[in-house]
Amino acid sequence: MNDAMTGVSRRGSTSRPLWRTWAPWWLLGATSASITALVDAMTVGLSLWSAEAIDALMFAPLAALGLTTASLSLVSLLQAPLLGIASGVFHHRSRKEGDDSDGSRIVWTLVAALFAAIAASMAARQLMLRTDGFQVRAFAVAVVSLGAGLAALGGAGLGLGLRKLVRGLWPFRTNSRRALALLLAIVGGALIAVCRVLLVAYDVYLASLSAVVWLGLFFAIELLVGALLLGLPRRGYARLVARSKNRWLAVFALLVPTLGLVVGALLLDAHPPSAQRLAATNGISGFAQRALQAGTDFDGDGASAFFGQGDCAPFDARIGPRSFEIPGNGIDENCDGRDAEASAMAWRNDDPHYRAVPSTAVSNYNVIMVCFDTVRVDHLGFYGHENDTSPYLDSLATESWVFENAVAPSATTRMSLAAIFSGRYSSGVVWTDGARVEDVSEDNVFLAEILDDAGYQTFGVVDEWLPRFVPTMRQGFSKYESAYRVGTWRESGHRAGPFIAAKALTMMVGRDLAKPYFLYLHYEAPHHPYQHHPEVREFGQGVTDGYDSEIAYADHHLGLLMSIFEAEGWLENTVLVFFSDHGEEFREHGQSYHSRALYEESLRVPLLVHVPGQAPGRFDGRVSLIDILPTLLDLTGHADENLSLHGRSLLHRTLGDDPGAERQILSELVVGAGRPDELTALYYEDHKLIWNVSTGEMELFDLDADPAERNALDDLDLRSSMHERLRSMRDSIGGD
Ligand SMILES: [Zn+2]
Repeated sequence: MNDAMTGVSRRGSTSRPLWRTWAPWWLLGATSASITALVDAMTVGLSLWSAEAIDALMFAPLAALGLTTASLSLVSLLQAPLLGIASGVFHHRSRKEGDDSDGSRIVWTLVAALFAAIAASMAARQLMLRTDGFQVRAFAVAVVSLGAGLAALGGAGLGLGLRKLVRGLWPFRTNSRRALALLLAIVGGALIAVCRVLLVAYDVYLASLSAVVWLGLFFAIELLVGALLLGLPRRGYARLVARSKNRWLAVFALLVPTLGLVVGALLLDAHPPSAQRLAATNGISGFAQRALQAGTDFDGDGASAFFGQGDCAPFDARIGPRSFEIPGNGIDENCDGRDAEASAMAWRNDDPHYRAVPSTAVSNYNVIMVCFDTVRVDHLGFYGHENDTSPYLDSLATESWVFENAVAPSATTRMSLAAIFSGRYSSGVVWTDGARVEDVSEDNVFLAEILDDAGYQTFGVVDEWLPRFVPTMRQGFSKYESAYRVGTWRESGHRAGPFIAAKALTMMVGRDLAKPYFLYLHYEAPHHPYQHHPEVREFGQGVTDGYDSEIAYADHHLGLLMSIFEAEGWLENTVLVFFSDHGEEFREHGQSYHSRALYEESLRVPLLVHVPGQAPGRFDGRVSLIDILPTLLDLTGHADENLSLHGRSLLHRTLGDDPGAERQILSELVVGAGRPDELTALYYEDHKLIWNVSTGEMELFDLDADPAERNALDDLDLRSSMHERLRSMRDSIGGD
């Protein structure tokens, strides 16, 4: 059996211990795993390099190398017996085919094995995301590993078939082993090029595609490694394996993964920011790290004591870095090294904004909430933009409450929307996947649920992105649909105005007239890539002109839809709230788009509230979009003391009873796609502190004197008092 590998002995395989037969297979897998690990580590290094996270360059790539080597080596070890059997099964038929058969069989079985290993790690991750509890997860991983082994077995057969096909097609009969190596190299190189192009051409919308692309990339690397091995001088690699003592192979088999694991774990513990960054990457090392973290989270509190997650009480589920701090109880629940002081809650409990609301404004209103994705405040007419981007909203604004200084709770859609719909800061929202912030948990109480319980009919018409990637956001909606067919974002996402109108009208026409309604409309249009809409309004050919044209498009279609609502009488006794989930950067601080920074261009957003019969007004005081929910509950008479909200009703300001006191307002960004660091910003009085939680860096701005955030202040006293304020507030976010 082993001659398939070594090409030396064709006898005696039955008398050898099994492990001796399998060890060369494992060595082959481990070698390939190590090379893949090196590429993975380089990818991690490159992705962090572009993010200018210099210190992470020292730790994360090395840790990635260790973890990837370890995990792939272990998978290879598991698969070696199956590959050994596979080689025995196929050897019988292939030995007549000439001296190239060994090499090419090795390549194809190798390819199949590694392909299966990567698929297994991805499947294991998906299973972990969808299961609770350590035993269930362990069982899931075991099932996946077994499946991977079987897949490798099948793949080996497939590989041989492919090899035959290739030999049939390849015109050069002589030295076909090298010819095959060349072909593999060409295919591998082409695959890498295609994957890179796909990665660049498509963005976050295609997260599911990006997994396929990554799979393709690693498959391509395997092809290249295979080509390299096959292209070595005749029998070179085989002879190398044959000459090495199997005893050493066994030692190597145990040492490599152990060493990789230990080095990876030590490095990640030494530098938690690197651990955070690595966990946010999509390479094999990122998967391995997350799997290892989940597997060593013994108490199930969402954090492991190892691999940089820093659970300071590994067997106490109440204590861990993801647990909510309860101020003043003498216990450091969130592992930040201290118990929060009881006074940390002062930002909420002592605040005059929490007084009871004037009852004159309360009615059984219908509620319409409209979000234009990605609209920064200074690109709307009613906030002073020179381009005529928003004629409909401008006219609505003259009869509405307009908030001049509204802050988004995050600079990225899902964190922001989850906060807005729960009335809580996004770090106080319960996420199914903890720090990675993917889907929201059913444990949250969202606005649609509250209104549903209060007897409303609840409708949502959104972009396909929401139901696909944050499916739990739909809880409480009786109807909740993408405006257009899922999967057609490229064609439809930026031309969705008529689709949104059609869906909304269908829902409204079919509704129960005896009940009030709640309708949420999400217009994706202003999100990049910016498409021009000359049929609505065109401003020029610059980047921001395209952006403005998108806003004008959304405004136009919202205006049309609302004119139908008006004509049908559906706007009577109806509150309309308009906002955007976050802003957009046009290189003011060196970057484009959003989700990456917490400067004003990303956070200052429009907020307009129209209440029939209430006098219009413009309000200067800083507010957060998490105030929308308590405001709507006050207006509709469904405020509930038992709801634990971070937002505050805006009625105190708008109804002439503004307490005037300044608020502390937070905005947050976790580590995620293209973003290496966790960021938090605190607004207090005229100042804003942006704290990079991962690196410890801080920037302090005086927004009154420097609204564009050009000059960070170096007032150390003020900075540290703001920092302390921010830390206390973060501490107390969940403990309520
Ligand atoms: Zn968004």
